[in-house]
Amino acid sequence: HFYIRAIEAQRELNAYLEVYAAEALQRAAELDARLASGEPLGKLHGVVVGLKDVICYKDHRVSAASRILEDFVSIYNATATERLLAEGAIIIGRQNCDEFAMGSSNEKSAYGPVKNALDHTRVPGGSSGGSAVAVQAGLCMVSLGSDTGGSVRQPADFCGIIGLKPTYGRISRYGLLAYASSFDQIGIFTNTVADAALLLEVIAGPDAYDSTVSTQPVPAYSKEIAAGADKKYRIAYFRQALEHPGLDPVIRDEISLFIKKLTAAGHIVEAIDFELLEYVVPTYYVLTTAEASSNLSRYDGVRFGHRTKVATEELADMYKLTRSEGFGKEVQRRILLGTFVLSAGYFEAYFTKAQQVRRLISEKTTTIFSNYDAVISPTVPSTAFKIGEKQQDPVEMFLADIYTVFANLAGIPGISIPLFTHPEGMPFGLQIMTSHFDEVSLLRLSAELM
Ligand code: GLN
Repeated sequence: HFYIRAIEAQRELNAYLEVYAAEALQRAAELDARLASGEPLGKLHGVVVGLKDVICYKDHRVSAASRILEDFVSIYNATATERLLAEGAIIIGRQNCDEFAMGSSNEKSAYGPVKNALDHTRVPGGSSGGSAVAVQAGLCMVSLGSDTGGSVRQPADFCGIIGLKPTYGRISRYGLLAYASSFDQIGIFTNTVADAALLLEVIAGPDAYDSTVSTQPVPAYSKEIAAGADKKYRIAYFRQALEHPGLDPVIRDEISLFIKKLTAAGHIVEAIDFELLEYVVPTYYVLTTAEASSNLSRYDGVRFGHRTKVATEELADMYKLTRSEGFGKEVQRRILLGTFVLSAGYFEAYFTKAQQVRRLISEKTTTIFSNYDAVISPTVPSTAFKIGEKQQDPVEMFLADIYTVFANLAGIPGISIPLFTHPEGMPFGLQIMTSHFDEVSLLRLSAELM
């Protein structure tokens, strides 16, 4: 009742596309009965969870905040959804996001922008903006988003909460609507590190439905974080990241001061060079648009969702009309860009080149983590900007991703923890990244610093 009333009272944030009020109350009553009967309870008994509208929940709509999937009903549960339910969670609704998870401000949803609860004139970040605001404003306890290039960490930074993107392959992508399959990973929004650890423990791990999921056993993260509470870490930061001209000087100063405090607390913190910083955003956009152009070809008006009402003679015209009506501008731009970089004559110049850069990034990552336990950086170069402010220039918006896409290119885990407040009043976070499948260190260090 509490969350349903809160969502109702905060309708104008536009965080939810649909609320399962009656159903959630019924589920709560069933869970109460279980408690009363003394039956064993799940790890998430009664936890109220929201799902970004790209994660499938059986017999419920899933639209990727797009017109093309407006009335589409999922016929199965995502593995993550299945595991939440098995542990007693209550799913309260599906949350607004940028269309097909493409964006950094949640202004690209076909169902209107989401507002930052701390300042309604500002964006919440994206693409998982609705999921971040829902946790920020107390419209659920925790939520699941997806992070292809920062879509969990960046909105967490803008909203002053925790956003965790695990290692690529830690959580099954089965039932997650694909944007760029070699980057996509389900991520977690919470207010505390302990909640993030518990949620990860529940939803991570091997799954026969996704061959890219690792078979590595899942640690008991919620217990592991308590151990080694005052361990000293070897931490690196990228010199080029802190010197970047696009970085807000206030954020630069706060992070620099924080680095001094870490050293004073006994950690080893060193600046290292990362010459590839200028290339991470272009590399990310070449590779993800290429994968998106292929993944989104399935929305053809035949198998899923919207089909044009206009009668056409040619099949190709039906495809064209359906896709022009169904996809928003940003999605169309990315499909075009992705098709271009994959086309004969340009493939070598763009796609192959970008793959080579990705390879260099992953080699660099191996070197870094043979010397350090963690890398820290700002999560985003600025605090939450005004709604409409960056709508004119898509390339300017892409700068918001400069610190987050590295983790997706390398496949490593990353988290944003809310440690700072800008004198203007908006929060911002510290990003921490660790080596592949080292979520234990990531969560421990986060718990220590928060
Ligand atoms: N802002 C990035 C993009 O637009 C990240 C999106 C994401 O992580 N889903 O692609």
